[in-house]
Amino acid sequence: MKKQAYTELARKMLVKLGYSESEAEQKIENSLAFETMLAPAIYTVEEQGNPDYYGKILNYLSLVDMRSLEGNLPILEGLAANGYPETDVYLVGNPAFVEKFNELYTEENLQLIKDCLIVRGSIGAVNLLDRECYEWGQECSNAISGASGSLEDVTLFAVQTSSALKWPTAKLYTSVYLKQEDKDRIAEMVEEIRLAYHGIIEEADFLSDETRAKAIEKLDAIKSYSLYPDDWDKYSCEDLEIKGVAEGGTLFDAVQNKNRFETDKLIKQLSGPVDKELWYYPPNTFNCFYSPTSNSVFILGAFAQGDLYNSDMSDEEMLAKMGTVIGHEISHAFDVKGSQFDKDGNMSNWWTEEDSAAFMERNQKMQDYYSAMHPWEGQDFYASIMTAEACADMAGMKVILRIASEKENFDYDAFFRAYADLWFTKDTLQMAYTRINDEHAMGYLRINGTLQQYDEFLNFYGITEGDGMYLAPADRVNIW
Ligand SMILES: [Zn+2]
Repeated sequence: MKKQAYTELARKMLVKLGYSESEAEQKIENSLAFETMLAPAIYTVEEQGNPDYYGKILNYLSLVDMRSLEGNLPILEGLAANGYPETDVYLVGNPAFVEKFNELYTEENLQLIKDCLIVRGSIGAVNLLDRECYEWGQECSNAISGASGSLEDVTLFAVQTSSALKWPTAKLYTSVYLKQEDKDRIAEMVEEIRLAYHGIIEEADFLSDETRAKAIEKLDAIKSYSLYPDDWDKYSCEDLEIKGVAEGGTLFDAVQNKNRFETDKLIKQLSGPVDKELWYYPPNTFNCFYSPTSNSVFILGAFAQGDLYNSDMSDEEMLAKMGTVIGHEISHAFDVKGSQFDKDGNMSNWWTEEDSAAFMERNQKMQDYYSAMHPWEGQDFYASIMTAEACADMAGMKVILRIASEKENFDYDAFFRAYADLWFTKDTLQMAYTRINDEHAMGYLRINGTLQQYDEFLNFYGITEGDGMYLAPADRVNIW
């Protein structure tokens, strides 16, 4: 489906750029042929989602080894031409890919490589040329997602601007929509939830005292960032120059210029110490995340808006939505992937052998739980890539249930309904297919799969053996 949609888009773009129909077809064929040759060396969705992925991508090479790995490929030459200084250590995410590319980097394949660049370049520029190209791009993404229509011009303008000028837009967004009092309130919630996690880790019966102490140490060291950065200087784009239309500027040139500006900034950062306080995503991003390499939790401004967070919410709704999400993010420090990093964000094993084995056994049980499920007949999940996110969903619920248990007259019905409201989704069939590749369980499983682990839910609604949502204690899979 994707191949068909992109082929059609590439064909239109290449003809618009001046190639004949048959030249365009040949270029697309060559491009696909080259990508097909490279494909075996690219990590699959499953490999990227598996717990050992971090170990696979951390390959530190000396300059000498880097030279030998690149072979005929001018990687170091390309880096130098782009302003990257030579260094003693190179981090190579996928050495097998470099080897494969080097093997294919021959005179014989030169035309295929050129055509691949032209095809990819033309597809990549659809949103930066004219209205017609933009609409072709829309048709292509609609065909893939099963959607129809297009954004209103004003929304399109906002989307384009905020994706091209991330930080200036973020600063403007923050000044209009985000308030210090909400930033403080969310920071307080993070602390309340961190405290409740102490109880969960203390009570985890599969941990020895030794590993437990390390886990608590890591929990206490998690840095928390809410809504927006305090210091905007690092994200300044004041030196970025953009030529307006009156001066002969184009959108395409402006974006190229901006990309160059960002690369130069990155190069400067690379030569200094690692800044573990840096916000990777601007506050107007609709997301929250945990960074294992800095052991920090980010609750981004745009997530704490509207139905997900507002000052009129009841306690139940606040805990069901913002609370479980904060709980989810904190627990990523202790899922099968995040737990490979220590309190300082370095990849190092802080588990005793026995505890690690017990933890992996619990992960396996969780994996088996999803392996036995099918979103529709004949369709499996990639269960092995789902356990980290499902672990976070379940721990996030558990920690909030713990907080709820201490509240008087807590309205569990309102709480569970608000939780369902957080994750329920309506998908086109095409989108449902793409969610099979997602490390997060599908929306209905984030709700049902998580809630059926807990007595608070089962008992409240009187769900017992024989009911569809019932899960016997021995079959429950929550890791924490
Ligand atoms: Zn997550």
